[in-house]
Amino acid sequence: MVKVLAILYRGGEAATQEPRLLGTVENQLGIREWLESQGHEFIVSDDKEGPDSVFQKNLVDAEVLITTPFHPGYLTADLIKKAKNLKICITAGVGSDHIDLNAANERGITVAEVSGSNVVSVAEHVVMSILLLVRNFVPAHEMIERGDWQVSDVARNAYDVEGKVVGTIGAGRIGFRVLQRLVPFNTKELLYFDYAPLPEHAAKEVKARRVEDLKEFVSQCDVVAVNCPLHEGTRGLVNAELLKHFKKGAWLVNTARGAICDKDAVAAAVKSGQLNGYAGDVWNVQPAPKDHPWRTMKNPLGGGNGMVPHYSGTTLDAQARYAAGTKSILENYFKSSPQEPQNIIVEGGKYATKAYGQR
Ligand code: NAP
Repeated sequence: MVKVLAILYRGGEAATQEPRLLGTVENQLGIREWLESQGHEFIVSDDKEGPDSVFQKNLVDAEVLITTPFHPGYLTADLIKKAKNLKICITAGVGSDHIDLNAANERGITVAEVSGSNVVSVAEHVVMSILLLVRNFVPAHEMIERGDWQVSDVARNAYDVEGKVVGTIGAGRIGFRVLQRLVPFNTKELLYFDYAPLPEHAAKEVKARRVEDLKEFVSQCDVVAVNCPLHEGTRGLVNAELLKHFKKGAWLVNTARGAICDKDAVAAAVKSGQLNGYAGDVWNVQPAPKDHPWRTMKNPLGGGNGMVPHYSGTTLDAQARYAAGTKSILENYFKSSPQEPQNIIVEGGKYATKAYGQR
């Protein structure tokens, strides 16, 4: 019998009405019956903070931990010390920065995620966010809801994506798909900043130019999208100093991880107009506190905020894929079969991927 602990988000009424909300506490990734039919114990909760939480209490003897980036059970080095029986952490989704990967390596704990499961979902959200910022959509919609109609008030800050320079920090699965989706927009240029060049055929397909210096890269972009993982090398990467090198009035989209961008520096840059807008779904702390400045920040013309809760990678289509992927990682684990290599983040005390800054 294996004890499996899952920390998922609470779906409430929506989850009882919509069984395809698989990533919720209520619908339990659709694996409860399957796990119990094999005699395994399955504890599921959204209660994740503090020593008395279901998360911390059950972690002490759980063998398998399932978490999601959408409502992260933060597995710190201290908690890993207490999790004496823990062998594998499975991220139902993509992005395992909520786990102290170095500490997992010290203990030889495997960390796996369902790579690729929501990369199209996120890439579509990035393109949508670029469009809604550049076209000044949110204030235009708010005007309509208010009952007003003053076209010039919103048109004064609306542009086309055509003819702009758009760049991505990180040209991996998501970053590349963003570039692919932008090709038909006839941008002036597509740029990317990454440790490694795209394979030649991929770079040709999207006609993207690599810029190796980050400051030079941002200084050339009208729109910057962040698509790299959060790790020691990317925490606070977009800070007050880097923002000075952005073109005045550039737009910034971040659906990667909130902590890659400095919360206060971004809010100040939007307020001053150094950034014409910021959009994304990821926050430095989740759920974000009610008074988080990213909820309400506005540019000098009253727009430029495209923030939403963390949901770009948890569309119903994505949930079907990451629930199936979680089950398949569990199946391999129970059978002691090798995992799909692309799903492994750390294993046997070593990083299996370069994307988390280990090289
Ligand atoms: P991926 O295929 O591993 O791609 C990440 C890319 O970022 C890799 O090409 C990596 O380069 C590059 N990179 C790492 N550090 C960098 C740095 N300092 N500067 C520039 N590039 C850097 O991952 P993915 O599937 O595209 O996902 C990317 C991230 O998106 C995830 O880690 C996660 O945080 C986030 N995400 C968010 C959601 C959501 O719902 N909002 C959903 C899914 C994923 P190398 O390979 O050369 O190291």
